[in-house]
Order: sequence, then C-alpha cells, then structure tokens
Amino acid sequence: MNNRMELSFLPIAENEAFARMVISAFLMQLSPTMSMISEVRTAVSEAVTNAVVHAYDGERKGKIYLRATLMEQKVEIEVEDFGCGIADVAQAMTPFYTSKPDEERTGMGFSLMLSFMDGVQVTSSPGNGTLVKMTKLLHEEDLDAL
Ligand code: ATP
Ligand code: MG
Repeated sequence: MNNRMELSFLPIAENEAFARMVISAFLMQLSPTMSMISEVRTAVSEAVTNAVVHAYDGERKGKIYLRATLMEQKVEIEVEDFGCGIADVAQAMTPFYTSKPDEERTGMGFSLMLSFMDGVQVTSSPGNGTLVKMTKLLHEEDLDAL
C-alpha cells in the first residue's frame, strides 16, 4: 500500500497530542499492533515536542510540518521546523544531553526516537531549522492479521 500525508500546525504544546493522534489515525490503514503504534506515537511526540520547546522556544508562531509516507515495507515520517536549528547534531543526539537542564528535560528525546524507529536522520544548522527523518520497517509481527 502506498499513501502519503502532510500537514502543518503551530508550535504550541496542545499540538503534541494532535500530532500523536494524526500519526495513529494515518497508520490505522495498516492494522498495526498496539506496540507498533505506541512506538511510532512516542517517536513523533518527541520530535514535535522538540520543535515546540527548542526550535521556537515557546513562541507561538512558526510552522511545524508532519509528513508520513507509507510504502510496502516501511513508513517514513518527517518532522520539520524552521526554528533556531542545532549547531552540533551529534552532541544533541547523545543520550542525556540537553540544552535545558533546569527545565526538567532529561535529554532522552532523540534516544527514544533512535530506539523506537529503525532509522533517524537529523539535518539541521543554526538559523535553518531542523528536519528529523525517521523510518520504521514493517514486519509481519507489527501488523494484526485481519
Ligand atoms: P527531553 O526530550 O528528554 O525532554 P531534550 O529535549 O533536551 O530533553 P532531546 O530531545 O534528546 O533532549 O534533544 C537534545 C537537544 O537537542 C535539546 O536539548 C536541544 O538543544 C536540541 N534540539 C532537539 N531538537 C531540536 C529542534 N527541533 N530545534 C532546535 N534544537 C533542538
Ligand atoms: Mg526532547
């Protein structure tokens, strides 16, 4: 099955739950298992939260794009923002690294994305926003037999 969706929304905290619901609804056509859905929801939630909290730093303006492409063997998901960008992507992706330690951030967002998805690619530079591209391979055991 091939299918594709794209949507954009404002960088506000309420839209984290909205993005989780949208990605779940889009993946329903696969009849996914609960564990597969919850892994993808968590990864998307972490990426969108990062865009809200870090890219736009709580400002209620700017755009976040969520895109998903369904292919025979995998799902590709992109979360893109046009906020501040990341100077050192390798450092940002290190477990427990956070630039906001005083705000009860644990620095585990990227680590969760890496553990729940089969691939995570981050393209970013200061002033140019951030594109997080994640891939999830589809295995038979991730899909409920109808
Ligand atoms: P947690 O996700 O556990 O609440 P965190 O958001 O700080 O904490 P990560 O999600 O792993 O941890 O992100 C690590 C760091 O990468 C962030 O602290 C931030 O400096 C930077 N970062 C992540 N996403 C973005 C983004 N979209 N724009 C700008 N900086 C980002
Ligand atoms: Mg985070």
